[in-house]
Amino acid sequence: WAKNEGRDRYVLHDPVRYRSDLQRSDVAAQLPAAVDRGELVVDFQPLVRLHDHALVGAEALVRWNRPDGRRLGPDHFIALAERTGSIVALGAEVLRQSCVQARVWADAHPGSPFLLSVNIAARQLAEPGIVDTISGILEQTRWPAERLQLELTERDVMVPDGGASAMLRRLAAMGVTIVIDDFGTGYSNLAYLHRLPVHGLKLAGPFVTDAPADNAALLGAVVTLAHSLHLTVTAESVETAGQAAQLGELGCDVAQGWYFGMPGRIDLIQP
Ligand code: C2E
Ligand code: MG
Ligand code: MG
Ligand code: MG
Repeated sequence: WAKNEGRDRYVLHDPVRYRSDLQRSDVAAQLPAAVDRGELVVDFQPLVRLHDHALVGAEALVRWNRPDGRRLGPDHFIALAERTGSIVALGAEVLRQSCVQARVWADAHPGSPFLLSVNIAARQLAEPGIVDTISGILEQTRWPAERLQLELTERDVMVPDGGASAMLRRLAAMGVTIVIDDFGTGYSNLAYLHRLPVHGLKLAGPFVTDAPADNAALLGAVVTLAHSLHLTVTAESVETAGQAAQLGELGCDVAQGWYFGMPGRIDLIQP
């Protein structure tokens, strides 16, 4: 369990024991009220430019502070929320909180770049009102669309469209950046790169963590492909100085991972 505790250190009990006294059906049933009660909180993990390690922004990662004092990571409830539809309210709440906090951070560090990167589920893009919801939140929180990035998983862009590409085009037209998350874990059909307004790829953790030594040629080829399509490349789950150096040499633009900073409070992020 050591590895699991390292990765999911917000989960105070191990997932197996937890699941046995908190049923998935309970989690699903309690989630909508949890959103209303403000039990969802957002951590931020720095995004840095690889060639000089300068801060470029942060990714917002949701956590659930349960009334019993336990803290659940997103792997315990996001998939359920997508299935029940409560991801729509949850996602809007995460975006709102993230923009509020990013606004405070940016006001405290004027002149520092800060791209706010927020995960969005395909289910949210199926909502007819999603563009209005997002633009309304940006307006209320005075967060510029040009400083918002949305992360959509490779798995999610492969699902039958349901209007998602039209929504993404409208968001991109507003100035929002769209990146493909967990790239390299899903399908190899890259046709969606032409269908959708994609600005970048986030290389999946396993690809990066096991990478440099074994996969240098593969990673280098992906970076070349991405750059030839004018896509930026972000490497996630960068855990060591060695990985950071090799990913930089391979041409990755941006990195994120424990080596550069754990997910945590936004006010602890230094410009
Ligand atoms: P993701 O978007 O790929 O986020 C990166 C995950 O990798 C995060 O897990 C982060 O804590 C973890 N991580 C960061 N650095 C390292 C590292 O150096 N090594 C390793 N092994 N892992 C690292 P987390 O916070 O448990 O989030 C899991 C997934 O849940 C996210 O994966 C994302 O897909 C989803 N998620 C999180 N917040 C939201 C949200 O607000 N909305 C939606 N729809 N999904 C979310
Ligand atoms: Mg996790
Ligand atoms: Mg992400
Ligand atoms: Mg990812």
